[in-house]
Amino acid sequence: MTTTVANIVVCPRCGKKNRVPAAGPGSPKCGNCGAPLPWVTDAGDDDFTEIADRADIPVLVDLWAPWCGPCRMVSPALERIAADFAGRVKLVKVNVDEAGRVAQRFEAQSIPTLLVLDRGRVVSRQVGAAAEARLREWLEQGLREAGRTAGAA
Ligand SMILES: [Zn+2]
Repeated sequence: MTTTVANIVVCPRCGKKNRVPAAGPGSPKCGNCGAPLPWVTDAGDDDFTEIADRADIPVLVDLWAPWCGPCRMVSPALERIAADFAGRVKLVKVNVDEAGRVAQRFEAQSIPTLLVLDRGRVVSRQVGAAAEARLREWLEQGLREAGRTAGAA
């Protein structure tokens, strides 16, 4: 069982507060109105498999560190994007200083490194900061890629 804590997320449609677990089947929906909820969570070496690899929807991984200036610009943009893509993507933030195994697995030599994962497989990678509009395009493309491989399976 997961030991990670649930986040409280305010439904963007009706305003109801929902408890959203860090991991679980499908993707979170508002208990009141059924709207898809933004799914944003942190992960580290011990829970990355459960939170990211086992997710039923594509995962946007943000490999970042507190000392990284460009990361501090990219992270808020990613959270806005994750809200707009609610139900279609899960944003998982990994502090590489505390998650050496995850950083090594994805060969994150420079950060921010952004990945789109489809059931643990990297379908798209973006190294370095980029404007929010560019990140949206990149994510759309990654989701199409993930959809294509899912359809072919
Ligand atoms: Zn709602």
